Amino acid sequence: MKRVAIAGSTGSIGKQTLEVISASNIGDYEVVAISANASVAEIVAQARTLKPKLVVVSDESARINVARELLTTDLKIEVSGDSAQMCDIADVVVNGVVGFAGLSVTIATLKAGRRLALANKESLIAAGPVVAPLRKIAGAEIVPVDSEHCAIHQCLRSSDDSSRDVAKLLLTASGGPFRGRSKKSLEHVTIEDALQHPTWSMGPKITVDSSTLMNKGLEVIEAHELFGLDYASIDVVVHPQSIVHSMVEFYDGATIAQLSLPDMRLPIAYALEYPQRSTVSFGAIDWTRLSRLDFEQPDRDTFRCLALAYAAGRVGGTAPAWLSAANEVAVEAFLAGAVQWSQIATIIEATMQHHDGLMPEQVEDILEADKVARHWARDLVRKESAK
Ligand code: MG
Repeated sequence: MKRVAIAGSTGSIGKQTLEVISASNIGDYEVVAISANASVAEIVAQARTLKPKLVVVSDESARINVARELLTTDLKIEVSGDSAQMCDIADVVVNGVVGFAGLSVTIATLKAGRRLALANKESLIAAGPVVAPLRKIAGAEIVPVDSEHCAIHQCLRSSDDSSRDVAKLLLTASGGPFRGRSKKSLEHVTIEDALQHPTWSMGPKITVDSSTLMNKGLEVIEAHELFGLDYASIDVVVHPQSIVHSMVEFYDGATIAQLSLPDMRLPIAYALEYPQRSTVSFGAIDWTRLSRLDFEQPDRDTFRCLALAYAAGRVGGTAPAWLSAANEVAVEAFLAGAVQWSQIATIIEATMQHHDGLMPEQVEDILEADKVARHWARDLVRKESAK
């Protein structure tokens, strides 16, 4: 029986983790802790069904309401505001928290020497230099839940010495809803347009990131942090069918790819079960119906966020933290209707002009970088929205 904690249990990854668990054999998993930011009704309903030992709610007034609701049940569930507590009672922590807020869960899990099934890319991207040493703690390990990194994780297992054998990582990108569109035609796209992802069903922030290719840019940085290759050895290939989830090219000329239907429940189940494979399937490729797989180069000129991410990754230090923070602010502004889709890249690029080149040594440095970057990004949102 694996004890599982789910950070962000009311979000997209959290709910799909619960689907994996409920499709598994009874007794394979026990959900010991769940957490949410402020979704009172949803987390109370989850707590009633799952009966975890611990429910963590970040927002204080929401926490009071959750505690009050759960008091009316016979369940002895502790309600807390401290997500680090989740790590102490779990074997695996699924981090499905959206955005920078996921950092504390990542750090607490690795410090506790637990497996981190990591879906929160910002925490690793923003805090890469701070998180890296924590991975050396006994028992601490990251198994990526992001489909591309999970694919690479699987492909790398075909070599006993990947640091010697790997020539290149090839991250695939669906291209998002605006693939093939010109810069001009993207000037006035709506929020609804950006949220129409052709192949993946995800939360709104990541879906917008996918439409700008920032999602892929962040994933390039994530791949660099996870697998230790330099940026010259990490490439992006657009693959609209989202069947090949990423590839690894080896020095002998062999390319190993991982193929499956676009369904996040596979990476989630992989991260829960590694080094074994899950026996639960959510569908396999029907080769009588799949007739073609296409690949093309990303349009780096129209989707500027990709180049911005490579640039921030190469600068290193707090630059990826700045990029991630600026992106969150810009995407929030877009989703709030304050700026146009095409202004997202403009805001990020202008924010990066203010980057101070600081090298982070501790979490506080990352938090400070995040704060300063957000300050600049908000300022630029105001300027852009006035246009
Ligand atoms: Mg991904």
